Amino acid sequence: MIPSVLPTYSRAPLHFVKGEGTWLIEADGRRFLDLGAGIAVNALGHAHPALVQALTEQAQKLWHVSNLYEIPQQQALADKLVAASFADTVFFTNSGTESCELAVKMARKYWYEKGHPEKTTILTFEGSFHGRSSAGIAAAGSEKMTKGFAPLLPGFKHVPWADHDALHAAIDDSVGAILIEPVQGEGGIRPLPDQCLKGLRALCDEKGLLLILDEVQCGVSRTGRLFAHEWAGVTPDIMMVAKGIGGGFPLGAVLATEEAASGMTAGTHGSTYGGNPLACAVGCAVMDIVSTPEFLETVNARAGFLRQKLEGLVAAHPDVFEGVRGMGLMLGLKCKVAPVDMVKAGYECGVITVPAADNVVRLLPPLNISKDEISEAVNRLDFAADAVLEAKG
Ligand SMILES: *Cc1c(COP(=O)(O)O)cnc(C)c1O
Repeated sequence: MIPSVLPTYSRAPLHFVKGEGTWLIEADGRRFLDLGAGIAVNALGHAHPALVQALTEQAQKLWHVSNLYEIPQQQALADKLVAASFADTVFFTNSGTESCELAVKMARKYWYEKGHPEKTTILTFEGSFHGRSSAGIAAAGSEKMTKGFAPLLPGFKHVPWADHDALHAAIDDSVGAILIEPVQGEGGIRPLPDQCLKGLRALCDEKGLLLILDEVQCGVSRTGRLFAHEWAGVTPDIMMVAKGIGGGFPLGAVLATEEAASGMTAGTHGSTYGGNPLACAVGCAVMDIVSTPEFLETVNARAGFLRQKLEGLVAAHPDVFEGVRGMGLMLGLKCKVAPVDMVKAGYECGVITVPAADNVVRLLPPLNISKDEISEAVNRLDFAADAVLEAKG
């Protein structure tokens, strides 16, 4: 008999009932250090007082109004994002995949209005992840996500990761945009080298293409800059955001330059919930904390500390781990064992991690994790690695 919850996930038998900062508490009382943060969502950990306050204060006043009316909290959050980024304008969504939908529509509308309705193709990359909507799975293109869901949304061409020649060869007159994650998340924490992002920007400028960045996972201070592309010193035309921006409240956004957004006039797009007062009140509280130089400095210091600890962990377990990769507090342990075995052993040792493709275990802790929590979490990973090796015999 089919379970009452549609069984599209194979779930771990863990029932968390409470969260406090970096800690998750199981129904049976066990305490787990959360290095998954709901897959980079709980950017400030669980039950952060400023976010609880923002949410509950707004909840007393007004939960929802339609986008048919002005929404001051939405205006305030858009102003903050515009002030802190390359963008001139923002549309709010409820998820990363909805941000993908709009990014694709925006790029196509841009070329349509420019008198190039043929420029519908968007180049994307192998191993990428852009969400589970029809556009999202077609954009990523992997068989794992698309099999059985044909016909797929047309207009995407997939290029191998880090293959300069294949990228150039793929550009023809139908191409209007390039879409890429500055750091692949689901694909196994694969950072795009700064030089490559610079090269993509230059290529887009040369060929007159739009550069769309998917910062759903790597954005919102995860890499130690507010947005990951800032490390390379270049800016996109359109950017997808979600996950961390709501700190646990469902919120996403598409940020764009005035030029790239020029086709999106009244009536061309909409969302019932997108940018509602509750979500944006929380989003404002998140932005006020994560965008300050002091906060980013701390993220970078903690990232350096975690990375150093993980290098030690890898050195101590050469049969379990191959190495550490990633940026900031978006790190991956490349494994020589099945990553799910490592994740499961972590559960037994009271530490939460997330598997990814390419044999990687992902570490995406709250950005305000303490040094003591990092030390304790790595201790627990150390025990977990021992257990994995023991189980292998
Ligand atoms: C999670 C993710 C998405 C999809 O976001 P949802 O909120 O799950 O729809 C898109 N792109 C990237 C890079 C992601 O990590």
